[in-house]
This record gives sequence, structure tokens and C-alpha cells, in this order.
Amino acid sequence: MSRRGHSMRSTKVAIVGAGPSGLLLSQLLGREGIDSVVLEKESREHVQERIRAGLLEWTTVELLREAGVGARMMREGLVHEGFDVAFANGHRRIDLKGLTGKSMLVYGQNELQKDLAAARCDDAGAVLWEARDVTLEDFDTRAPRVSYTHEGTRSELRCEFLAGCDGYHGVSRSSVPRERLAQYERVYPFGWLGLLADVPPPHEELVYANHERGFALCSMRSRGRSRYYLQCPLEDTVEEWPDSRFWGELRLRLPESYARQLLTGPSLEKSIVPLRSLVTEPMQFGRLFLVGDAAHIVPPTGAKGLNLAAADVWVLSRALVEFYRKGSATLLEEYSARALSRVWKATRFSWWFTLLMHRFSADPFTQRLQSAELEYLASSDAASRTLAENYVGLSFD
Ligand SMILES: Cc1cc2nc3c(=O)[nH]c(=O)nc-3n(C[C@H](O)[C@H](O)[C@H](O)COP(=O)(O)OP(=O)(O)OC[C@H]3O[C@@H](n4cnc5c(N)ncnc54)[C@H](O)[C@@H]3O)c2cc1C
Repeated sequence: MSRRGHSMRSTKVAIVGAGPSGLLLSQLLGREGIDSVVLEKESREHVQERIRAGLLEWTTVELLREAGVGARMMREGLVHEGFDVAFANGHRRIDLKGLTGKSMLVYGQNELQKDLAAARCDDAGAVLWEARDVTLEDFDTRAPRVSYTHEGTRSELRCEFLAGCDGYHGVSRSSVPRERLAQYERVYPFGWLGLLADVPPPHEELVYANHERGFALCSMRSRGRSRYYLQCPLEDTVEEWPDSRFWGELRLRLPESYARQLLTGPSLEKSIVPLRSLVTEPMQFGRLFLVGDAAHIVPPTGAKGLNLAAADVWVLSRALVEFYRKGSATLLEEYSARALSRVWKATRFSWWFTLLMHRFSADPFTQRLQSAELEYLASSDAASRTLAENYVGLSFD
């Protein structure tokens, strides 16, 4: 059946959402000769311009290379072998490479989206951008269906499996009857105000700062483009934070040695994100599999969101390949349990690192415990190794 102009078509795997999860899954399946169609409600340009994550674990890097989308990433990404934890006007380097043998790669999620979209668009019709009003049906049967409106035509996609890769606000998780899933959630009482600017960062590695005025993070997307974050009240708006106020506050929260190096410039983007932890159990319902942010959310402290999404894709892609190559559904049946085991470990780590680095209350007992833990981290190789091991990411298996 032609891929265009028909109100009905079929594929093996229907994928809802063309974020990193959806496109990477489609790309990995495509390389194994497994047909899929991705339905994305936004335009390609919109998806590629969203400023989000930027720090890849090495296992994610390897998976992207395996998917054949690693060439530009390896040329332009920045390898980081450590990061700084700053507190009490000093800082301690966490030597990731020395403690774990592994590094991280700084590469913007929007750049990754461009690479993935370019690879998928070689396969005409594999991604339908601006597919609206997606509804999922019959995922408890062997013949699930997805209805959607594309270019003004209401269409139906018949498939054998459905991958819900449509993020926190997507339709996949909400299509599951409430009584069939459990959601475990923690909402944190503050947000992150992010600012992107074309200025070099004050330090070549990331700096996570615990300060009595609140948390701050100096990160980057390239040598000349920096991404900064400030802990802020949830009720704040971007309009209340003109650039001059942001830069002044950031300077106050950094150790003097870094504050002196801080170069400022006009913001290219500024936004406030709330922080939450959410895990949905299970992650599969009949032939519907939830992947990435559709199933779980972590606070950005520790940079696990995008990496967890990639890990889910790895587990699901292998299960689908085994099903189509060998006819075995064993890995598909194990998808939820295997993915959740890693999800909960990353959820624990992101929660712990958030607790350690942010100002939660004025309670002096809590604050002294936090200071004691930071001092312990700075003086103990065992504590630093535990942080490093979780930060670089646990193995996929
Ligand atoms: C503002 C922001 C900042 C972030 N910063 C960081 C960070 O610094 N570090 C970090 O590690 N992580 C960060 N994250 C998390 C990280 O970006 C996500 O974990 C990652 O994008 C997950 O990928 P995904 O493909 O599962 O979901 P998403 O990237 O959310 O992709 C889901 C896709 O589905 C589409 N979609 C939604 N609903 C529908 C529908 N009904 N029909 C069709 N398509 C639909 C969406 O348009 C989107 O393209 C951030 C997230 C946000 C929102």
C-alpha cells in the first residue's frame, strides 16, 4: 500500500512521538529491516528547536553510534571526564574517568533530534510530522490501531505493536485505564530557571553549586554556548527574571573563583521547568509499550531523563528484534521489569542528588545534615565513587 494519500495503512510498529525515544526506536528498527511509522503532533522544526537535555552517558553515545547517527555527535560533542561540586565557597572535582573509567558527552538534545530526523527522513513517510488527534485502540489485541489526522485527512494506521514515546503530556499513558497502572510521584517545591547564551562557560566542566541562596548549575552546549540554571520559586515567571537579574544571582551562588570568570551576554532562551519524579508501573499494557518520558520523569539534576529514554529504547528494540527474527516474545514480556529496574535506580539517584544540592527549607538541622554530606563527599573517595558511578550511568543489562 502506498504510504501517502490513503486513509488506511499498516506497519509493524506504530510509534507515537518523534522525540529522542521515538526517532531512535524507529531508526534502530529500520536498520534491522523492521518497518515502523512515527506519528508526531508537532512540526519537524519545532521538535528540533526545543532546548532540553545536553549530557549523554557513554552507553547512550554507543547506542547512537550503533544506530548510525553518531558521526556529527562524535565530531562536535565535548568529552567530559569530570565535573565540579561547589559548596561553602569552594569546590571538589568528581573525577568520573578516574573513578569509573567512563566519560560523558556534551551534545545538545536539539542537535541529536536533527541527526535522528535526518536519518529517518531517508525513509520517505517513516515520520508523519503534525499528525493531530492521535487515538490508540485495541492495544490489548494482536491488531492494535492508531487513528490520526494528517494534512486534513483522518487516517488509520494498523500495526502489530505500539510504542508510546510521546512524553509526559502524551496520549499513550492516558489511554490506559487508570485502574491498570500505578503512578509513584514526588513533586519538588521549586523549579529551574534556565538561560542559554552564546558565551563561553566559566569552567570547561560542569559546575553544580549548593548555595544558601539556592542551587545553581553552569553547563554548556559547546565551547561558545553556555546553559545555566538557577533554583527558583515555582510561582516565578520568566518576565520577573530579566537577564541582568539572572546574571547577578548566578554570580552570587558560585564560588568566587568561578564568579570572577563568568562572562555574560544576551539570553537566546529562558524558561522555567518544574521538578518532579514520576514512575509509571507497569510500562507495558498488552501490545502497548511506554518508553521514555511517557513512562517516567526525573528532575534534571544528574541528567538522567534523556539517558533513561535511550535505555528504554535499547531494551524494547532488542525485544522487538528478537520477536521478528526468532519469533520469541520472551524479551517483550520482560520489557517492563527490565526497564523499571534501571528506571528506579536512576530515579533514586536523581532524587538523592536533588536533595543534596538544593535548598529545601530554612530548617537548620536539615541544612547542617546537607553540609555534612557535602563535606563527606569531598573527603571520601568511596562517596565520590558512588556519585560518579551513578552519574555516568549504570550498565544497560
Ligand atoms: C524543558 C525541559 C528541559 C529538560 N532538560 C533536561 C536536562 O537538562 N537534562 C536531562 O537529562 N533531561 C532533560 N529533560 C528531559 C529530557 O529532555 C527528556 O527526558 C527526553 O526528551 C525524553 O525523550 P522522549 O522522546 O521520551 O520524550 P519527549 O522528548 O518529550 O518527546 C515526546 C514527543 O511526543 C510528541 N507528542 C506528545 N503528545 C503527542 C501526541 N498526542 N501525538 C503525537 N505526538 C505527541 C511531543 O511533541 C514530542 O515530540 C528536559 C525536559 C524538558 C521538558
